[in-house]
Amino acid sequence: MIRVGLTGGIASGKSAVGELLRQHGALVIDSDQLARDVVAPGSAGLAAVIERFGAGILLPDGGLDRAALGRLVFSDDAARAELNAIIHPRVRAAATAIEAQVSDPYAIVVHMIPLLVETGQQDSFDALVVVDVDEDTQRARLMARNDLTEDEAQARIDAQVSRTDRLRVADFVIRNDAGLEELAERAHAVWHELLKRRGQQGDGCGC
Ligand code: ATP
Repeated sequence: MIRVGLTGGIASGKSAVGELLRQHGALVIDSDQLARDVVAPGSAGLAAVIERFGAGILLPDGGLDRAALGRLVFSDDAARAELNAIIHPRVRAAATAIEAQVSDPYAIVVHMIPLLVETGQQDSFDALVVVDVDEDTQRARLMARNDLTEDEAQARIDAQVSRTDRLRVADFVIRNDAGLEELAERAHAVWHELLKRRGQQGDGCGC
């Protein structure tokens, strides 16, 4: 098995690349999805969040009110660190549990982690793939997808590490400055590099 970290700035195209790699045969573990799962209604994670932040962060249906929680921790570094201390270990445990079930010794397991560099996980993988996009394109896609103003989009971009910091730790870079067809070609090329790294070039490509 090889373990691959997949990261990139907000709205850089990680999900799009994750889906392309999945189509080529990777097992993709989406840490954003796990972060939602570990605070699902009835979970120990949600109980821990309520204990720390109060029942005011619940929606009427018992689910977590992400927007309310986001507002609570947005400008409070200590509160955000406490929330991360509840969520991050659970996400890692959930990812490890999924990986532990992989019996194929040639599996390529891709961990899609938005804040991989911010959380210091750059040395935790056999290979690191960074989806990179110039900031103007990133901002425009983020504004369109999330219906944000230019300032709101820029604030979200500025809250993350710089492109340079991400590119510095990358083994493979997928530029996402063109269309989706080009993105598919570039993801395909990286998939071949991952197959090579796994030592089974040409095997399991499925393409
Ligand atoms: P997040 O950081 O919020 O999880 P992400 O990195 O997973 O985002 P995507 O959701 O894959 O990014 O892409 C962001 C937006 O840009 C989406 O609306 C997507 O459809 C669009 N997009 C991605 N790549 C391209 C492309 N090559 N051409 C046009 N639009 C694109």
